[in-house]
Amino acid sequence: MEKQHYKFKLMPLPYSYDALEPFIDTLTMQIHHDRHLKTYVDNLNSALENYPEYHNWTLERLLCGINCLPETIKIKVKNNAGGVYNHEFFFMNMSNNGKKQPNGILGEKINCTFGSYDKFKAMFKETALSVFGSGYTWLVSDKHRNLRIITTANQDVPVTQGMCPIMCVDVWEHAYYLKHFNVRADYINQWFNVINLKMAEENYLNIYI
Ligand code: MN
Repeated sequence: MEKQHYKFKLMPLPYSYDALEPFIDTLTMQIHHDRHLKTYVDNLNSALENYPEYHNWTLERLLCGINCLPETIKIKVKNNAGGVYNHEFFFMNMSNNGKKQPNGILGEKINCTFGSYDKFKAMFKETALSVFGSGYTWLVSDKHRNLRIITTANQDVPVTQGMCPIMCVDVWEHAYYLKHFNVRADYINQWFNVINLKMAEENYLNIYI
């Protein structure tokens, strides 16, 4: 996903809108993907439209090289490229494949870092609840393959901090308000059932930092 460049396209969901029921509801998925993600894609394209010198820059290059961009578009590109990157990761990072525990070297590293997968989930949830306002909670790896739970505000991305994302949850209110109103904890509990753990395992195997 980070290899695409202008003109950015709306990534199709890798599953149907109702695939994550009953944990994540169909209407939330429709609005989150078709409206929220689409708006980030459209705004990113409109920011870059009159700047052809950046049309071959990938999403990741735009995010990591944001300070090379003209002041006139810097903030708009940062926010909207971040919105595209984070949402594509978040949607890809969910699945109804039914996998409940990470295996392989990610499973082992989670056990050794956090004590167990259940203890990891408790810490991840506590961190997700601590995000004030809008943002994300991530499991990331540093270049030494050490795992950490971090948060990012708004549409900031972990790749610009030298961190490789393993999994993430979107805790903007639009991710859960239709079903859970203001109760973010219920949403996090449901989200644990639909984490694409196969993708998380692959992300950890393929750390590219
Ligand atoms: Mn979102």
